[in-house]
Amino acid sequence: MQNDILFFAEQRNGRIQKICFELAGGAKRLASQTGGRSIAFLAGQDVYGEAQSLLQAGADCVFFADSPLLAYYSTDFYAELMEQAVQSVNPGLILLGSTTVGMDLAPALAVKLDAGLAADCTGLWVDDGFRMARPSLDGAATDILYCPDGNPVIATLRPGVLTPLAEEEALSFPAASADTVKELSLSLAEEALRTQNRVELIEIEPGNKRSDDITKARVLAAGGRGMGGPAGFETLKRIAELLGGSVACSRACIESGWADTACQVGQTGKTVRPALYLACGISGAFQHTTGMDGSGLIISINKNPAAPIFDISDLGIVGNVEVILPQLIQALEAYQGI
Ligand SMILES: Cc1cc2nc3c(=O)[nH]c(=O)nc-3n(C[C@H](O)[C@H](O)[C@H](O)COP(=O)(O)OP(=O)(O)OC[C@H]3O[C@@H](n4cnc5c(N)ncnc54)[C@H](O)[C@@H]3O)c2cc1C
Repeated sequence: MQNDILFFAEQRNGRIQKICFELAGGAKRLASQTGGRSIAFLAGQDVYGEAQSLLQAGADCVFFADSPLLAYYSTDFYAELMEQAVQSVNPGLILLGSTTVGMDLAPALAVKLDAGLAADCTGLWVDDGFRMARPSLDGAATDILYCPDGNPVIATLRPGVLTPLAEEEALSFPAASADTVKELSLSLAEEALRTQNRVELIEIEPGNKRSDDITKARVLAAGGRGMGGPAGFETLKRIAELLGGSVACSRACIESGWADTACQVGQTGKTVRPALYLACGISGAFQHTTGMDGSGLIISINKNPAAPIFDISDLGIVGNVEVILPQLIQALEAYQGI
């Protein structure tokens, strides 16, 4: 087994995305088990400064490519450059986030490298090679994957599955030296890169909808079908405001059109790990809890004392959200002097 672990450091508008710090932490921990290095691949425009932050996040080495042509993601450019990084270090494992970009780049890279790809994983560990887990059969089972001939193995990880290094943990590893940032040459001339690009980004149209990124929230006020309708979500918005958090929901609420799809937590939604997850009128189906059971503190309100959500809750309140949540708002407003 090759020991090094390479991860894709996705940037948007020149800023490293949160998932990269999770991949950096995960790669560092795995590399400490394999005896290898955690190596970042970063492409973009004016991204040298971000390379330094990757070293602090756990990368032992950063390969970066800098060009105006790389300011926005392009499958062809990025796959070409990442292949160069792979050929330089010959890693055993390549990690990407299960983001829109990661899910586009990973298969392109797998084809170039003739490598095995485990997509949308919810677990990753070392056990005589790399093992990956992902939900299957509508969440009734978990597949454990292994790539016997895949060297390297490519895995895309859902946001929130790996965690960034805590400050103290980072100090327990030897610091990376300053000469570990290596620039990749753009092997083809810029004009050649331009003409070989099979998909060109011609314009970015701003969206008219803004949803909070629930994977970044420290507090989530989450609602399920038990919230009763859109008015229930207005109540949750107020609670989220008062607690400095965001609103999340179960899939039932997306299907009912009560909340934005970006708020969905679970198997087909997002994986979140807020410090506080307030689950209101959510039954606790496996497909939901798989996306939030790593939260710091889970408080649930449900009128059914046998609701499965209570099995994973730190505090369970049996009661009606229509009664309890207005009281919570009143108490929070009073506490904040509003
Ligand atoms: C392939 C597949 C993928 C899926 N992916 C996801 C996913 O990513 N995320 C997800 O969430 N689901 C997902 N689901 C759906 C999942 O199986 C459940 O159906 C869904 O999570 C249920 O949502 P819920 O808990 O809001 O609704 P319900 O199961 O209907 O539960 C509502 C709960 O609210 C309680 N309640 C009702 N009224 C009140 C009240 N006034 N006060 C307090 N409590 C009240 C009830 O007791 C009940 O426990 C998926 C399903 C499949 C098949």
